[in-house]
Amino acid sequence: MKFDIITLFPEMFSAIKEEGVIARAMKKSLISINTWQLRDFSSNKYKNVDDKPYGGGAGMVMQVKPIRDCISKIKQSSPNTKVIYLSPQGKKLDQNLVEELANFESITMLCGRYEGVDERVIENDIDFEISIGDYVISGGELAAMIVIDAISRRLSGVLGNEVSLKDSFTDNLLDFPHYTRPEVIDGQAVPKVLVSGDQAKIDAWCLEQSIKKTKQKRPDLLLK
Ligand code: SAM
Repeated sequence: MKFDIITLFPEMFSAIKEEGVIARAMKKSLISINTWQLRDFSSNKYKNVDDKPYGGGAGMVMQVKPIRDCISKIKQSSPNTKVIYLSPQGKKLDQNLVEELANFESITMLCGRYEGVDERVIENDIDFEISIGDYVISGGELAAMIVIDAISRRLSGVLGNEVSLKDSFTDNLLDFPHYTRPEVIDGQAVPKVLVSGDQAKIDAWCLEQSIKKTKQKRPDLLLK
């Protein structure tokens, strides 16, 4: 999977490029993350890419031309890339949407700042708008990193085994509880079945616990 990110803060992506699952997936060439500094597409000497909003009001708006030029440049090497604008007004990200996105070969993400982008970009240059939830953050970069991480976990070979197939939201269930050593701590013991060595019983217990947790914490999932 190829990710191209349009941003005013490319350095922020070092958070995922240098550590953990994503960094390892990059090293194995399972994914690539290319950041594009939007200011490189500015046509003025101050490298501005934003201006005052028509109609007045507070804040600045990101201009069409640098964004459009940057997307055109990305499409020269990835003509079929899907262009996503991270936006609080977009479709809310959930595991089903992550699975859909994981089928694409190339995704371009536009990270907004200020009041967001000129509406004509959304009308003309974007395939999807995606939100990470009903709240507003200061820029699309953190949202883009969440999307990259969630998609990458679903790509074959990224986690090294099939562990993500049992993650929460698979089959509309939450994950079962996990325990590690020691077997007893401060009087709290690990459930006996987990140390029984009987794999069939353990599997049945895990499924039962998944259903129980889902009923307790997210009963809405069971109605899907
Ligand atoms: N004025 C915009 C509005 O109220 O719809 C919010 C702009 S926000 C301060 C700046 C940028 O952060 C947005 O352009 C978007 O890229 C990103 N952003 C903010 N909240 C987001 C969310 N919930 N999901 C995805 N991106 C978000």
